[in-house]
Amino acid sequence: MRDTTQPEGKVVMMCESKDTVREIVEARLFPCEMFHADLPDEVKEETLDEFRVGSIRVIVATGAFGMGIDIPNIRLIVHVDNPRNMRDYGQASGRAGRDGLPSRAIIIRGGIDFKNELVSRYMDPERRECRRIEIDRYLDGSTARARCEEGEYACDWCADSGRTDAAVETIPAT
Ligand SMILES: [Zn+2]
Repeated sequence: MRDTTQPEGKVVMMCESKDTVREIVEARLFPCEMFHADLPDEVKEETLDEFRVGSIRVIVATGAFGMGIDIPNIRLIVHVDNPRNMRDYGQASGRAGRDGLPSRAIIIRGGIDFKNELVSRYMDPERRECRRIEIDRYLDGSTARARCEEGEYACDWCADSGRTDAAVETIPAT
């Protein structure tokens, strides 16, 4: 039965290690299932099937959750650990909102030392630049972007700074 107190949509929590995945799932703080490379294929398939139909809403995963997985209505990607590099982060965050609806990708910061210069620049809280610029640059090699554009949902900086084109919609705070 659907829990009407919960928002719609699917959530993927990305972790760097299987240990972190297990830690989160075994803490049983909320209903979720794990996904990592060491699970038997049939278990992974079953988890993905249940995630697709919505009987599982939250998957806690390593980078094994990636290639070939195209689920349109993932609404939130949470990076529990610092992303390793911009390419991984761009690909992982791009799994949210394949259906074109508002979605978020967030990174939980926990006093971590950022080893990767690009990731630390992306995550810099003092950053005064559209978040999509960095992702475009390292994923597509494109430097054409100045801000979130028409038809896109604004990133946190564009939304806060009001630097969006009028047609860009901001994600409503919930
Ligand atoms: Zn932006």
